[in-house]
Amino acid sequence: MRLVSVAVPVPAIDALTYGIPDTLPDPSPGARVLVPLGTRVLTGVVLGPVRPTAFRTPHPAPRSASAVKDLIDVLDDEPFLPEDVVTLVQWVAEYYACGIGEALSAAMPPRAWIESERYARITAAGLEARGREKGLRQEILAGLSNDKPTRVDALVTRAGAYSALAALDRGGLIEITRPLKGSASAFRTVRVATLTAQGHEFDDARPLGNKQQAAVDRLRAAPDGINTATLAADGISATTLKRLVDLGLVAIHRRRVDRDPFEQNAALPSVPPGAVELTREQMDAFEQLRAWSAAAAFHCALLHGVTGSGKTELYLRLAEGVRRSGRGVLLLVPEIALTPAVAALFRGAFGERVAIQHSGLSDGERHDQWQRIRRGDVDIVVGTRSAVFAPVRNLGLVIVDEEHDGSYKQEEAPRYHGRDVAVVRAQQAGALAVLGSATPSMESFHNAQTGRYRLVSLQRRVLDRPMAAVRIVDMREEFAASGPEVILSAALAGALRERLERKEQAMVLLNRRGFATVVFCRQCAHTLECPNCSVSLTVHKAIRRARCHYCNHSVGIPTRCAKCGGSYLEQMGFGTERVEAEIRTLAPDARIARVDRDTVRRRGAITGLLSRFAAGDLDILVGTQMIAKGHDFPRVTLVGVISADVGLGMADFRAGERTFQLLTQVAGRAGRGELRGEAVVQTLYPGHYSIRHACSQDYAAFFRDEIDFRRRMNYPPVVAMINTVVKGRTREAAMTDAADLVRALRWGGEPYRVLGPAPAPLSRLKGEHRAQFFLKGTHRASMRNALIAVLDARPELRRRTIVDVDPMTVL
Ligand code: ADP
Ligand code: ZN
Repeated sequence: MRLVSVAVPVPAIDALTYGIPDTLPDPSPGARVLVPLGTRVLTGVVLGPVRPTAFRTPHPAPRSASAVKDLIDVLDDEPFLPEDVVTLVQWVAEYYACGIGEALSAAMPPRAWIESERYARITAAGLEARGREKGLRQEILAGLSNDKPTRVDALVTRAGAYSALAALDRGGLIEITRPLKGSASAFRTVRVATLTAQGHEFDDARPLGNKQQAAVDRLRAAPDGINTATLAADGISATTLKRLVDLGLVAIHRRRVDRDPFEQNAALPSVPPGAVELTREQMDAFEQLRAWSAAAAFHCALLHGVTGSGKTELYLRLAEGVRRSGRGVLLLVPEIALTPAVAALFRGAFGERVAIQHSGLSDGERHDQWQRIRRGDVDIVVGTRSAVFAPVRNLGLVIVDEEHDGSYKQEEAPRYHGRDVAVVRAQQAGALAVLGSATPSMESFHNAQTGRYRLVSLQRRVLDRPMAAVRIVDMREEFAASGPEVILSAALAGALRERLERKEQAMVLLNRRGFATVVFCRQCAHTLECPNCSVSLTVHKAIRRARCHYCNHSVGIPTRCAKCGGSYLEQMGFGTERVEAEIRTLAPDARIARVDRDTVRRRGAITGLLSRFAAGDLDILVGTQMIAKGHDFPRVTLVGVISADVGLGMADFRAGERTFQLLTQVAGRAGRGELRGEAVVQTLYPGHYSIRHACSQDYAAFFRDEIDFRRRMNYPPVVAMINTVVKGRTREAAMTDAADLVRALRWGGEPYRVLGPAPAPLSRLKGEHRAQFFLKGTHRASMRNALIAVLDARPELRRRTIVDVDPMTVL
């Protein structure tokens, strides 16, 4: 009996074993198959033939042949997912202790699953053919009616039924609400008008209307035809075209187009790599990296280069070399909307050979891009986290830009870290991985120090532009002098005014949105809290509501205390909305915009704001960490940071690291052009090492202090850590279940430490109570395996438990 292992997109289950019926061929790994699961029919992906030791848990030997169900059908003759991606997916499932289906979902393009909710109906042609067909086809036709559609999954319960159904669909004998082999229909088509032969010969003797004549003239000059939407935009309507079609002068047909996320982006810089001359330092770094990329063996390099040191230029040249040698390139960026420059530079340099993958694309766009990559039409893929699974062929180079960025970590299952998966992928492909950052993560720098990664440094800005001069403002002194209400210090207010006078630009950062962060009753001390989460609601003045930043619950801003009815409500704490208001008061004539998740909810809004700022249509940009990323605005000469210590109050061992990164990155935004930059940093803790070292832009000193702290407290990267959160309906239920798991994990000889359980810092979230415990140790695999074994014994609990391996936040 032939058996295969199949992954299905169902949370928290492992690979399943199915038999291959005699009528079907052996499916190759990566091919999609239809399988029965309970009462459903699902699409799965073949992992490979079943060998007892192939996967995490040895496959339980089927008790009898009849215990194994058969595949219903094989959907692909060729692997749908390439084999190396299937291997990577299996690594993710194992390392992050998630279900194989969850890991697989991260790698599948949209529209790849054939869901069970499709309906079929017999057509007139089908009715006619009924009786003439044989076997399965006849059975299917007999089972269908032409007015009431039947669920497809009720029809495809037998081997080969799916193929029969697809063939009937193709033959027009039945109609399926969404075609089964749907990839063709998932492409976008446009209507294109062309001139017919008659139209070309048309000699103007017969008078046409003005619009009609204009259309004919335009089409005559465009032998490939013109998109009807373009014509409509130019005033040539569908009615005009219809008339011309009726006259036999114009033909309209559909043409397939790949959706291009850059099509709206008219003005792209087109700079071939190699246009600028590398600095000495860039040259040395490049030579090293190039040698490794040519070595055809795995290397991982950490490219530590201060902000503005010209890392992107190195990426471009490396990519060019690898592409020329016939291998593929993958470039990961944190968020395309926030770092459009890198994506646009690659697009400009490599044109059609680049595909862009990110979550802001529509399903259709992503589908098209994925297919282009899979076909081998592109050799460079630029994308966010999930692009790490892109089906790039013959991978030779993986670059992770801003490798320290938190957005590489997916905060839902599968909880993978895109950077770490990228390194594993490079390893499996024998490729070079380059991790670039001005502020490397503790993990990566630690790896560079212990020799696992090679360190390559760029210590100077290109053209010897100086780093911004940083001024620290001690807000305790400011409060003493001007009262506790101060938001903009005298120094920052003065610096802003200067910039406005000199017609230079400024950015002001506060990493907290909203107008006020707490509504507090002075009479009874009650604060306005979210009913679903254990946090206070944030006041958003623009929409006149108080909103929860975790579950989005909102209420009108109260005028009386909900508890005591008193009317002495006070708003405390402040966010970006309030800072924007303060700056408007300070400089009523300035052109100010705010960038945070409240103002850029709409797709494309952020790109609009950033390009207005780049074009000089705005003077001051206020925002959260969104403005701190890799933008290059040459006219920005001032960066202000309000409450540099916001993050330090959090009960998170990465708070210092995050603060350092954010401050260094945002200070790096100033003075990137010819004008000297300055940063003004306001804080209550001017002595904190993460703030001090960020202000002196001293990464090495920061790393020394931070690694000391991690060592003392036993935190990553010194040890490995797994955060486990158990959700429950009540606090007691969550705590009891977590305690059960902890007890099972402590058996006396365990090679790790278990800390907890305790209520999570966010002890209630979206209505659920959360208890938490940590595993810490030096051997990650044994911790993970112990946890999986314990959870496997409690399947019902496994579904309510979050397992976060290498957590980025512990809230
Ligand atoms: P990073 O990513 O390291 O912060 P960038 O790659 O954005 O720095 O480079 C900063 C600026 O310097 C960009 O405008 C880039 O075009 C320019 N640049 C890079 N290398 C050179 C060079 N060798 N000579 C002149 N300008 C350069
Ligand atoms: Zn909430």
